[in-house]
Amino acid sequence: MEALLDSSHGKPKLLVVDDQPINIQVMHQVFGSDYQVFMATSGAQALSICQSNPPDLILLDVVMPGMDGFEVCSQLKTSDATCNIPVIFVTAHTDAAQETHGLSLGAVDFIAKPINPAVVRARVKTHLTLKFQSDLLRKLVFLDGLSGVFNRRYFDQQLPLEWARATRSNAPLSVIMLDVDHFKPFNDRYGHQAGDDCLRQIASTLKSGLKRPADLVARYGGEEFACVLPDTPFDDAMGLAVELERQIRALHIPHALSSHDGVVTASFGLATRTVDSLGDAQALVRLADQQLYTAKQTGRGRVCGAPLD
Ligand code: GH3
Ligand code: MG
Ligand code: MG
Repeated sequence: MEALLDSSHGKPKLLVVDDQPINIQVMHQVFGSDYQVFMATSGAQALSICQSNPPDLILLDVVMPGMDGFEVCSQLKTSDATCNIPVIFVTAHTDAAQETHGLSLGAVDFIAKPINPAVVRARVKTHLTLKFQSDLLRKLVFLDGLSGVFNRRYFDQQLPLEWARATRSNAPLSVIMLDVDHFKPFNDRYGHQAGDDCLRQIASTLKSGLKRPADLVARYGGEEFACVLPDTPFDDAMGLAVELERQIRALHIPHALSSHDGVVTASFGLATRTVDSLGDAQALVRLADQQLYTAKQTGRGRVCGAPLD
């Protein structure tokens, strides 16, 4: 648990929001040596910092001129980018109704001014640990344990979003499905450990072969991977798929029962949503899958592709 708070993540970022600079100064003395402390003297400023440089935790004054702390908290909770930042209210007015209201808005804790440094430090540490744990879990839920790329759940969630984005901006969208060739005999001959290792090597080849930040690689099932390439027209995606096929072959993973040069190969199916395509994300995957099937039927270790009607 301590590891979550250690320096490998850099110092955790705290945002202190208070209209009284003296209160910010106090917090700075308490936290300055263990945390990166950012400060805001108004609600509006706090919201803008949270968008541009999201902190790991916020210490938020309730009573401020203009936008008060309750309003700031409500707004933070409505945005995907900021809703997971824990908020601790710090206030001189601690009655049960206020505290209940703050917690109902999504704050994790309530601290009374004047603060007791040891107590505040302990509470901040507890909430940060919880925050880092849930960040980690949110990430793990979408990762494939064996290969380290995204999992099927993430693919299924992202593809419709990418389809919607492509439709909105009238942009192309390509999907590549690939399946390792003769992988059952590979496992039978070289063992499951070697099989797993082969899948890991292929996953990292795909990951390093796709360089745009928006590109997505996922393990779709057993020995099948899927790539989503936003803003990528058919010809470009075809070029990429051909290159990925070559790179997998170039890993030179020995496979005595391969149909190509005694090494592991994969078959690729590509489908592209063009600006004229009808249909939906599922139709795109279906087409990529049909193309993959054609690649298998026509010799394996190759790419087949088509634009979606
Ligand atoms: P094809 O060229 O037609 O794709 O033949 P194939 O043998 O690859 O296809 P098949 O679907 O018959 O076999 C897939 C094999 O992949 C079966 C299974 O043993 C293996 N496999 C699936 N997931 C894993 C995994 O996580 N680890 C290992 N080692 N093997 C896996
Ligand atoms: Mg296979
Ligand atoms: Mg398969």
